[in-house]
Amino acid sequence: MERTRPLPLLDRRRILKGAALAAVPYVLLPETRAGARTPAVDHPSAEWQPATSLNYTASSRPTTYTVDQVVIHVTQTTYAQALSIFQNPQKKVSAHYVVRSADGHVAQCVRESDVAWHAGDWDHNTRSIGIEHEGWVDRPAYFTHTLYERSARLTASVCDRYGIPKDRAHIIGHHEVPGTDHTDPGPNWDWVRYLRLVNSA
Ligand SMILES: [Zn+2]
Repeated sequence: MERTRPLPLLDRRRILKGAALAAVPYVLLPETRAGARTPAVDHPSAEWQPATSLNYTASSRPTTYTVDQVVIHVTQTTYAQALSIFQNPQKKVSAHYVVRSADGHVAQCVRESDVAWHAGDWDHNTRSIGIEHEGWVDRPAYFTHTLYERSARLTASVCDRYGIPKDRAHIIGHHEVPGTDHTDPGPNWDWVRYLRLVNSA
């Protein structure tokens, strides 16, 4: 995205000259154009809603760990409350993304290169991208068509970025993480529909 777009060659030469730096219009510098306030999202349409840095492990994936899974979660709380939990250092929990029920809006809370704390298991945290969905396992009305669709688009793009097969061996539910006592996304999550959407996204 904007963040990584290289400067045009002409501008790079001018900057390398050093003395000419002052002559470069301010707006041409990527630091000022992207700016500290501009989100560093990995998924282009996501809104940057950062978790506190105390709720995830900074890393340099996929260099540090291979990313070969997507873990699907349900928040058991509202979208807004989920974001606020991730911002609370006492909660010791986070996910890379939260998808809102009503409109499928996607918030990114942790960079994909970092290890979010969502699976409850270090091995699965290091190897996966965690996606939370606003809703409750026993309230299927929260799993709207737009939530499925926007989430599937997100999962498809994650799979494309890391070469992850778009199948149930690699796109798993939190309940499938060995040793977990979590049940999400629960029996109302339509895996057949979701996988079909991921594969057609
Ligand atoms: Zn979960």
